[in-house]
This record gives sequence, C-alpha cells and structure tokens, in this order.
Amino acid sequence: MKSFITIIASVVCSFAAVLAAPEGQTEQNPQPLDANNRDSSVKPGDDFFLFANGSWIKQTEIPPEYSRWGAFNELIERNTDALHTIAEKASQTQVDPKLAPETRKVGDYYASGMDEKAVEGARTTPLTEEFQKIDAMKDRQDVLKEIAHLHSIGINAFFNFGSGQDAKDSNHDIAQALQGGLGMPDRDYYTKQDADMKQKREKYVAHVTKMLTLLGQAPEKAAEDAKKIMALETKLAEASRTRVELRDPIKNYNKMAVRQLQDLTPDWKWSDYFNSINLLEPGNVNVHQPEFFKAVNNLFKSTALDDWKAYLRWNLINATAPYLSKDFVDEDFDFNQRTLRGTQQNKPRLDWMDEPTKKEALKKLAAMNVKIGYPDKWLDYSLLEIDRGPFVMNTLRSEKFAADRDLQKIGKPVDRTDWGMTPPTVNAYYQPTMNEIVFPAGILRPPFFYANADDAVNYGGIGAVIGHEMTHGFDDQGRQFDADGNLRDWWSKKSADEYNKRRQAVVDQYSAYAPLPGQHVNGELTQGENIADIGGVKLAYAALQKALDKHPEDRNKKIDGLTPEQRFFLSFAAIWRSKIRDEDQKLRLTTDPHSPAQFRVNGPLANMPEFQKAFNVPDGSAMVRPTDKRVNIW
Ligand SMILES: [Zn+2]
Repeated sequence: MKSFITIIASVVCSFAAVLAAPEGQTEQNPQPLDANNRDSSVKPGDDFFLFANGSWIKQTEIPPEYSRWGAFNELIERNTDALHTIAEKASQTQVDPKLAPETRKVGDYYASGMDEKAVEGARTTPLTEEFQKIDAMKDRQDVLKEIAHLHSIGINAFFNFGSGQDAKDSNHDIAQALQGGLGMPDRDYYTKQDADMKQKREKYVAHVTKMLTLLGQAPEKAAEDAKKIMALETKLAEASRTRVELRDPIKNYNKMAVRQLQDLTPDWKWSDYFNSINLLEPGNVNVHQPEFFKAVNNLFKSTALDDWKAYLRWNLINATAPYLSKDFVDEDFDFNQRTLRGTQQNKPRLDWMDEPTKKEALKKLAAMNVKIGYPDKWLDYSLLEIDRGPFVMNTLRSEKFAADRDLQKIGKPVDRTDWGMTPPTVNAYYQPTMNEIVFPAGILRPPFFYANADDAVNYGGIGAVIGHEMTHGFDDQGRQFDADGNLRDWWSKKSADEYNKRRQAVVDQYSAYAPLPGQHVNGELTQGENIADIGGVKLAYAALQKALDKHPEDRNKKIDGLTPEQRFFLSFAAIWRSKIRDEDQKLRLTTDPHSPAQFRVNGPLANMPEFQKAFNVPDGSAMVRPTDKRVNIW
C-alpha cells in the first residue's frame, strides 16, 4: 500500500519514467552544449536528435548495470553521490548522543544495508515469522487477513488499496481500490500472444520456480507452485484494464459506499479487511475498475488454500528480494533487469477555443500552484523505528510507516503541502487533482539548469520541463479536471470536438514512429506526454522570446557561433541525450506513457516553424512536417 501517488502513475504526469539510481562517479561541473556531443555529419533538418547528440551516442556505451543511459542518469548519479556522502557520514557517528534522531535513522538504515556479512548470513531468517503466518493459514478468512497484513507492509498482493484525492472533490482524501496483483510489468505480458511475450512468460515461470527453490522448497513443488501462481496472475491480468483504458479518468471514477462495494464482492468481507488494516472509518471508496473487483471476488472464492499460500509466499519474497542475500538479489536482477530490460505555429494559442471555455482554461492556468525545491514542512519520522539491522526489516518498517501514513489520510481534508517526490529526485510532475506543478531540487541542476549559462540554454532545458508540466493541465487527462482539481467537464461541445481533432493528430504522428523494426510507439498511450512535450517546448520558446524582448542586446549575440534560438533547441535536445537496450525499449513501448528519447526531441520540433527557421532547414526535410499535418494544440 505505497503512497497512492506512486500506485496510480497514470494520473500523476511525471516528466520522465522512473529511473534506477545506483551510486557511481561523475563529472562535477558539466558545461552546457558541449560541441563534442554533436554529429556534424548529420543535417539538423534530417534528424535533430542525432545532430545534437550523435557523437555522444557513438562514443557512449551503456554501462553494464543499466538498461539505458543518458543526461538524466548522469544527473541522478551526481545527486546520489551527494546523498551517499550524507548517509556515509551519518553511519559513522552512531555513538554521538547529540545526533539528531533523523540523522541517526539515516545512518542506521544505511549501515544495515551495507553490512553485507550480516545480510548474507541471515538470508531469509528475518522473514521467518512472516512466512510462518502464510503457512499457518487455515481458511479463506485467514487468506483475507494475510492479504490485508501484506498490504500494511507495502506489499501489493491481489489488488491495490490506499488513499488519494477524490477526483470530483479535490479537497478530500478518500479510499481508493485499484487493479493490481501482477508480478510482471503489465497485463499485456500475460495476454499477448506474440512469440516475445510467450517467451517472457516461460522465463517468468522459471524465475518464480528458482526463487521458491531458493526459499527452500523442493524443485518439483516449486515448479508446480510457479504454474499455479502464473495461472492466478493470468486471471487477474485478463480482468485488468489496458494502459490506454486507464488514461480515462471518468471511466476510472466509481465512488461508492462500502455497502455497494460489499455487494460487488459478496465473498470478500470488506469490514474484515478494513479492521485488519486498522482503517476504522473507510467512508466512500473509489473503485477504479469495478469489473476487476468482481473477478477478485470470484478468484477469492474459487482459489484453493494451497494456491493462496504459493501466491502470497511469492509476493513476499518478490517484494523483499532486493534487501536479502546475494542469491535472491541476483535472481531478482536476472529476471527483472536482464530478461525484461536487456541490461548488458505562428497563430496565437487557443485560437480554436470558444470564449466560455477559454475563460475556464485561463482560470485554471491562473490557479495552478507551483512547488519548487523541497517541502515547506518536513515529514515527521519520529514514529519510524530504524536500527542497525536486519536490512530487510528496516525496509518493511519503512514500508509500514508509509502505508500507515497513507491510510491515515482517508476521510480527512487534503494536505496541499504534501509532495509526491523527494527533493533529490531528477523528475517533475503535474498533479491534476491538486492543479499543481512540482519541481524537486534534484532536477534544478545541469543539464536542465546551469546557474551561469545564458538564458537560451536554461529556457531550452528547465524551461521546457516547466512548460511540459503546465501543458499536462491541458492534455487528454488533465483537461478533464478544473481549476480546483475536480473532475468536471468545463468544455463546450464545439471546443471539445476541436480538441479531439488536434489530439488525434498527435496520436497519428507518434503512432508512425518505430524505434525498433516493426515495433511502433503506442500513440494512444503516449498522447498525454507527447501533448506535454509539444506544448512544453513551444511555451518555453515563447518565454525565451519574451526574455529577449527585455534584453534586445542579447538577440543578435552569438555564443560559440550559435544564435540564442539555436542554443535553445540544442539545449532541449541535450536533455534527452540517451541510449537504451532493445529489451528495455520493448518493455517501455508496452508500459511507459513517455515516447522514446529521440521522438521526444524530433516529434515536437518537426511541428515548429521556429525550429525550421533557426537551423535554416529546407522544406521537405524529415524534421519539417507538411503544413497540413502539423500539430497545433497549445
Ligand atoms: Zn509528463
């Protein structure tokens, strides 16, 4: 039951999909727009992404421990280095009684994870009691209680449950129930019939078998259990909505009283579940996918007790493997990383909108809240117990702390000071139910923001990120929420029809892109991010022009032989500098609402006459879309 904001990523529009962030070394003070990264053998009008980043791509190998590598990763590494120094220092001063409790917790948590000898020696011993609870289950009532218990320590078996803003009453947090319970990244992994997905399913069953064997089960029994687990997860997958269906906030809003929810699932007793997770006043529940919960009820009723034991054992070990001994860590990596990711316009804006709709849109824009850097109010961690180990128990207590905090929000007014990302995160987001844009300190660094660079570089970097998040307020999902963050239709029919025409042009443009032979971008799934990318760079460009109006002396000033406009577009392309392994690319084509990096650059720029002018690109070039096909939403 992680914080709801992480469960339903489809509603929070982050700037980039989450990246892994292990430690490493990096350069300290990178310079903007390194000419050595460019490939002068490529014409800007043919492929601007390759022109701006081609030499970097040729010279760069994706490090073996990553499935992709680029400007984001480099900044994540620099931020992680800073955090590492803090944690290391905190871990060395445990005996100082004057140490702030928060610092001691950071130090102890870090030390428990770094004590490899203890982690190796203990293997799964710290989890003995947890496994015993599962083995001791005697009937369906016990199964329900165990699922509830796992939810309370952050393990989302069977389905997802947590708190979140009421989409139609954005001042209140209510209970939310969502589809879930899968061990692979998406329902498509269970349902698609192509050879690649079939092979991944076979490898998944082998992986589950191996993990259960490491837990001490006999290989035959482990193989049998893995098949049962696969069968149960396949049924959950078949009842799950697709990622494109999850983008529709109206379809996924089904608020109901507990009595109605109980009617939906006659065999699953919600009062027992709520008691077990210590939720005394659940209030109304938004059941995002009612048909999924009907399937949950049938599975709950029909699945044999032994199958439940297998499934819950698997959920527990799958969630905790990264914090256990090396055999578990390696097997977890082998499947989740190696197998799944392959780790080795000139018209004024809004011209098509009628006046009443435009008025609402401007009201929403004016009401947009901005959060920068770090929260005004720090989270109180005094109730979280952290000691020197076992590592895995520190993790489970942290998950429980987060789950408790999440459940305590149900039925209460929304805390608008809350953040959905930590300060060092290299990312940003728009939250439609808060109508807010959020930029953690972690992304306010090169290559997004250079304290000493010219305006053009920073408008092309962090400026485009800010524009991207603002545009999310008006993408296919965001436009359905109003100035207060409520799900309410404020569009006239005429303006909505015009919007849909333009939205379809974005879907068509990106659906034509294929990063791997025969494997196309899902234009429907990625439309929100593509609309935000296209709108973001346009907004940032307009903002740069305003800044240049204030400093006309900068307009004709070239730096390194480049005009401000050229530097703006090169800076935009530089933030997407990256390489990705084929397997990770395939995974992301199914699950990631963001387009591949090269299309995040070339897609928006091919619609912009300002780009064509800046680099003097001839008509008919790949980077210049025909006038009648150009996308022009915002
Ligand atoms: Zn986004």
